[in-house]
Amino acid sequence: MLDVARIRQDFPLLRKADRGELGIYFDNAATMFKPQAVIDAVMRYYTEGSVNIHRGEYDLSYSVSEAYDAARVKVAHFINADSREIIFTSGATGSMNLVAMAYAESVLKAGDVILTLESEHASSILPLMRAAKKTGARIEYIPLAEGGRFELDAYRQALHDRVKLVAVAHVSNVLGYVLPIAKMTQLAHAVGAVMAVDGAQSVPHLATDVKAWDIDFLSFSSHKMLGPTGVGILYGKKAILDRMDPVLLGGGSNARFDRFGQLMLKETPTKFEPGTPAIEGVLGLSAAIDYLQGIGMDNVFSAEHALKERLVNGLRSMEHIVLYNADAPTGIVTFNVKGIPAQDVAFYLNANGIMVRSGNHCAKVLVDVIHTPDTVRASLAFYNTPAEVDRLIDVLRSVTLEACIAVTIA
Ligand code: PLP
Repeated sequence: MLDVARIRQDFPLLRKADRGELGIYFDNAATMFKPQAVIDAVMRYYTEGSVNIHRGEYDLSYSVSEAYDAARVKVAHFINADSREIIFTSGATGSMNLVAMAYAESVLKAGDVILTLESEHASSILPLMRAAKKTGARIEYIPLAEGGRFELDAYRQALHDRVKLVAVAHVSNVLGYVLPIAKMTQLAHAVGAVMAVDGAQSVPHLATDVKAWDIDFLSFSSHKMLGPTGVGILYGKKAILDRMDPVLLGGGSNARFDRFGQLMLKETPTKFEPGTPAIEGVLGLSAAIDYLQGIGMDNVFSAEHALKERLVNGLRSMEHIVLYNADAPTGIVTFNVKGIPAQDVAFYLNANGIMVRSGNHCAKVLVDVIHTPDTVRASLAFYNTPAEVDRLIDVLRSVTLEACIAVTIA
């Protein structure tokens, strides 16, 4: 059992909430609050480092460069990769665009197939759609079962020898289901396809092992795992990254070039990282990983699962609530209140001091599968408490259309 009361002391915004100066934060899938250790790491860079990396012939630059390189090694260990397989980007969105532009657009041919899901986030599906348009490849969807549930048999049947890339989120940001990534990768490889995984909602919440799963790409964001915004990670198998050309060119990523445009790039991953990176963000991410490892990813997962079970059990008996993912194991609980638009429910919850998200959650194709354009999403984190969950249940018990309208027009 986690000592959540103690953990909450590490987060300035949770301390504020515990003092009654801030509401309950249940929008953790959008971004997570930051512990003081992460804030300190960012501050330390600006107060004690604040120089560029890998460029200066002086001690301060050496020491910041060392810390930056050590952060890459830490990220690699966190997902069981080699540090040369870790590319820093601007976010999961940046990582997935890199896969689409630097890999898919150069490898796919007319008639090839990208296999994906209707539940994918815009940041995954839109770059792939463009890659398909440019190359003449086709997007095909693995049919989802009732309620957006993934079924391995449907995936097996959807695979064929024209499938060259399988791109799926390990955990859906709307439904919170966890895909059997290792098995899916094995099946993808059996037809000669490459496996690209969107880990934006999985890496922060469950233990990740890219080697054991044998996946080819993994994209995720620092800010969704307690770290700073502006930093993302693309893991790619070294042999694949070595064959890829970068999308961006510039200083730091080239070994030499001449007036005739002859260019020699540096090795992977440096060739993918031109320009000055978000140094403070990467150092903050390193502190975030230390923090998560201090808690233990299995503890993170089970704490979030227990909170989610408590919320689902509380809502299940309410006739006016429609639950879309009652049996998902992660901390994402998606629902609607019958007869009340999702956004009005979110306004009402906000008026009662509870922060959630409403809408289609950037998964615009999924609306056809779950038969509703908008839902309310409460996404729970290990630092939330049972009392906070109970408060959400209580507020939802008495929600009415009139009360929502009163809040909306107030
Ligand atoms: N993929 C999924 C499943 C997400 O939930 C998100 C963000 O919500 C993203 C990708 C994009 O992440 P970012 O905005 O950090 O680039």
